[in-house]
Amino acid sequence: MAVGRTTTRDVVVISYGRQLLDEDDIAAVVAVLRGDWLTQGPAVEKFEQSLAHAVEAPYAVVFSSATAGLHAALAVAEIGAGDVVATSSLSFVASANCARYLGATPAFVDVDPGTLNLRPDKVPADVAALVAVHYAGLPVDLSALHGRPPVIVEDAAHALGAITPDGPVGNCARSDMCVFSFHPVKAITTGEGGAVTTRSRALADALRRFRSHGIVRVPEKGGWYYQVAGLGYNYRLTDVQSALGQSQLSKLEGFLARRAELAQRYDALLADLPVTLPPVAPSGTRHAHHLYAVRIRDRRRVYDGLRERGIVPQVHYVPIHHHPAFAGLGFTVEHLPETERAYEQLLSLPLHPGLTNEDQDLVVDILKRLL
Ligand SMILES: *Cc1c(COP(=O)(O)O)cnc(C)c1O
Repeated sequence: MAVGRTTTRDVVVISYGRQLLDEDDIAAVVAVLRGDWLTQGPAVEKFEQSLAHAVEAPYAVVFSSATAGLHAALAVAEIGAGDVVATSSLSFVASANCARYLGATPAFVDVDPGTLNLRPDKVPADVAALVAVHYAGLPVDLSALHGRPPVIVEDAAHALGAITPDGPVGNCARSDMCVFSFHPVKAITTGEGGAVTTRSRALADALRRFRSHGIVRVPEKGGWYYQVAGLGYNYRLTDVQSALGQSQLSKLEGFLARRAELAQRYDALLADLPVTLPPVAPSGTRHAHHLYAVRIRDRRRVYDGLRERGIVPQVHYVPIHHHPAFAGLGFTVEHLPETERAYEQLLSLPLHPGLTNEDQDLVVDILKRLL
């Protein structure tokens, strides 16, 4: 069985995304299991330092998920009831829910069809915060904002390893905080997990408090003594997960190179087919290639045809404003025409570091026949 395939019953499944683990990863996890700490031990801090180093940020704070990290980021930036938070509707629901957790209201900004990122020039001047989603791993050009919102959080769930002319995504050159995900389909995995990076010591401290019940240690009052300084949660990542993250992070460059190679192969193999290829990164920018999302007519038929033959593509995304839970916000096709047009046609083809050339050729062959 080729790496990157799974079998359900007798059908080989080639999925749009999946993790790539090796014996080093497994050994790193087992070593923690044999040690003294399962959580809140040294592996967490080590992973945070490695991650901060990798994205050239002074601080990294790991969380139990990117969703928890997004919640924390907006909370420590003091977003609350009455605030409006701009984001993309062409994203995962967590990009908007983070505002709603705090009683704030999401406002969706239409995407640029050339990048599928929200249009920075369309971010309303009066929003309290912007959650900028780097769709598919292509960074939003934050230098093109017309005026800086008071708070900028990058949703970089797709973009670990992406680089902008200002440096790696995560260095927060043009944002306050940047959030990564370590879900199994993302660039590296901890099972579930996420992280927030920042340049601000005060924000990093606040993120750590928020992650762990609002607790602050006060050693002057005794070794046991702690205070609950504010509202917090249990959003911690375990040592077991952090060890996996540390081991995975050491392979990030290889994963990114393989993703880029597969994306280039798709570009060549699909060049003569009636599909619109994904946006390419402008010079000075490195794409993280989290997704390979083409635009295609008759998407429903193509999706079903691929599924019938054991290929599992995905649609990124059902726009957030389509969901019943967001209907009350009143966003329609008039507000978000490019988001709607993109949604009608988008299809993410299998792309992950364990995908073999043979599996990719099979995907393309089936696609050709369907078109
Ligand atoms: C995956 C993802 C998230 C959520 O990440 P979790 O770690 O699963 O909470 C948020 N935003 C985007 C754009 C994502 O793709």
